[in-house]
Amino acid sequence: MTRQQQVVIVGGGVIGLLTAFNLASEAQSVVLLDRSNVGQESSWAGGGIVSPLYPWRYSPAVTALAHWSQDFYPQLGERLFAATGIDPEVHTTGLYWLDLDDEVEALAWAERENRPLRAVDISAAHDAVPVLGVGFSRAIYMADVANVRNPRLVKSLKAALLALPNVTIHEQCEVSGFIREGATVVGVQTTAGAIRRDQVVLTAGAWSGDLLKSLGLDLPVEPVKGQMILYKCAADFLPSMVLAKGRYAIPRRDGHILVGSTLEHEGFDKTPTESALESLKASAVELIPALAEAEVVGHWAGLRPGSPQGIPFIGRVPGFEGLWLNCGHYRNGLVLAPASCQLFVDVMVGREPIIDPAPYAPEGRI
Ligand SMILES: Cc1cc2nc3c(=O)[nH]c(=O)nc-3n(C[C@H](O)[C@H](O)[C@H](O)COP(=O)(O)OP(=O)(O)OC[C@H]3O[C@@H](n4cnc5c(N)ncnc54)[C@H](O)[C@@H]3O)c2cc1C
Repeated sequence: MTRQQQVVIVGGGVIGLLTAFNLASEAQSVVLLDRSNVGQESSWAGGGIVSPLYPWRYSPAVTALAHWSQDFYPQLGERLFAATGIDPEVHTTGLYWLDLDDEVEALAWAERENRPLRAVDISAAHDAVPVLGVGFSRAIYMADVANVRNPRLVKSLKAALLALPNVTIHEQCEVSGFIREGATVVGVQTTAGAIRRDQVVLTAGAWSGDLLKSLGLDLPVEPVKGQMILYKCAADFLPSMVLAKGRYAIPRRDGHILVGSTLEHEGFDKTPTESALESLKASAVELIPALAEAEVVGHWAGLRPGSPQGIPFIGRVPGFEGLWLNCGHYRNGLVLAPASCQLFVDVMVGREPIIDPAPYAPEGRI
């Protein structure tokens, strides 16, 4: 892609917003569409840990995106804060994993990948996190893991985009299908009418697979519901993130503590349930007994864009000119967003990519 292109992006979660931001920085003209308001779906609902939950259990493809993003997040946060006055709060607290079954594999992965993950004595974990429950016997710790306040990240990205002359955002604008001229996609049909552009980028999260069905394509991206609860404690209540048995607690800078999450296959239903609330509260108290005395101040659900092995689809759709994907980030869309969106733009503009794009290419996977 050499001359300036007119690009329409479908879906304004973190992936669509950051794709728009990166394309606009390349002087492309961008229209971003969302059927709701941008940044209100999974990218708002997530926990914002800037790491896969168990990074050693993922493929090298996910690891490559995660590492690039982890290095980039602090500067992304600073740049957005400076540009918009909205701080995405990239908060480096470190993360304790407790009583892991695959600790040996975790430590071997860290050695291989040169990550600062190490075994710590459980008493050292209690010293560092005095509110930690007493039922644990082993811990490993990685000091450089951050979390990002994702609702602020998406708000900040939106504000940054609104300040750019070559970006337009249309909210409450639902895409129902694609406009084709033979095998070339030349735009989208929306509730506000047809929008024709040179290139169409699908970043519709869990809804991406459904949208591609109208082209006869079977994209394996499916909604995976996740519920989360929120507490409000003193700012210094929880100094690090803690994780056991698939459940975690994440401290924000102001003392909000998020506890998540469930993994449910309920289609596109994202109603929070009483049973998940009770189960998440039980996990919260097991991790941090003092939370038994705290009030749950929030409870919500979001739909992750589930994909095989959690490897996102990044690149051109085979068989269709002008149609591109950046979707299917499953449990890791916040951590993977910076690398995914940089890689996407590298591939689209035909520049040397930040990492090998082959594992993410839609070709052969849909
Ligand atoms: C409970 C929970 C915890 C999580 N924790 C973490 C974590 O700690 N770390 C991490 O990295 N990731 C986490 N995730 C995953 C992460 O939130 C997602 O992978 C990421 O937000 C996906 O971003 P997205 O932009 O692809 O999708 P979304 O944020 O869902 O955005 C998709 C957008 O597309 C729009 N859209 C859909 N259909 C249409 C249409 N037809 N027309 C126009 N617009 C449309 C939607 O309105 C939406 O705004 C978590 C997710 C959940 C649910």
